[in-house]
Amino acid sequence: MEITQLATDFRPRWTTYIRTTTVLFWAVHVAAVVGVVLCGFSWRGVGLALASYYVRMFVVTAAYHRYFSHRAFKTSRWFQFLLAVGAQSAAQNGVVWWAGHHRWHHKHSDKPEDVHSAKLRGFWYAHLGWIMRSDWNDTDERMVADLARFPELRWLNKPVVHILPTVALAIGFALIGGAQALVWGYFVSLVLLWHGCFSINSLAHLIGDKRYATGDESRNHWLLALLTTGEGWHNNHHHYQSSANQGFEWWQIDVTYYLLRLMAAVGLIWDLRRPPQAVIDAPRPAQLEAMDATTSRAA
Ligand SMILES: [Zn+2]
Ligand SMILES: [Zn+2]
Repeated sequence: MEITQLATDFRPRWTTYIRTTTVLFWAVHVAAVVGVVLCGFSWRGVGLALASYYVRMFVVTAAYHRYFSHRAFKTSRWFQFLLAVGAQSAAQNGVVWWAGHHRWHHKHSDKPEDVHSAKLRGFWYAHLGWIMRSDWNDTDERMVADLARFPELRWLNKPVVHILPTVALAIGFALIGGAQALVWGYFVSLVLLWHGCFSINSLAHLIGDKRYATGDESRNHWLLALLTTGEGWHNNHHHYQSSANQGFEWWQIDVTYYLLRLMAAVGLIWDLRRPPQAVIDAPRPAQLEAMDATTSRAA
């Protein structure tokens, strides 16, 4: 299916909520709440949830986003496969599907064809509503021909197969740490991780500073950057998408990039792409408007 076939009615009908994907999605939320009630609160549990959250947030941002969607660095085929398996432990579908939809978002950002425009369709649609729809289920391989040529990635992208890494992680937590580890390390952490990641689709197009004139509503916000290991510098990212770093200034904390540098130092990845200085120094939107006004007065 071509993902150009966007329905014009973007409000999900209630029936779209009753599908295997959406039922499992809400079941994880219920399991997190019921699990905490049954197991009881514990600081060790909170620590485990946060550790599992941040490790997987790093893999989501480094793999699903910066590597598979934007090819911001290079790596070997075996490590590429490990990155895909690691990313899919975050239960956000196959890396080929993820990259295809994300590239579509950049191509049509905040235009009617955008998968999840918060500007046009509001916070909830950008955050969750689009995921509830069945018309985004398929992968348009024309958007991701560079990834679809790898049979192992196409296999990981298949229905049912794409959830195997996250199911394996859940079983691992249960076997090693019992019910406490399963609840805090998997379910609570996964709910937080989902909403942390989804906040870049929703909040990062609604709140924060527009440093660059990108023609869309992408913004930079320090809190989102801290919660998402660097993805909150989303306006920078829309300005120069293929960069391995999304924090362009020294004070823009970008933990994913620091860890990518570490991985490059030990030879796991290489050729990290960085924005040219002229791209970083591009004028602010207000400066561009002033320059436009001067030019039109002179004409
Ligand atoms: Zn965006
Ligand atoms: Zn992106």
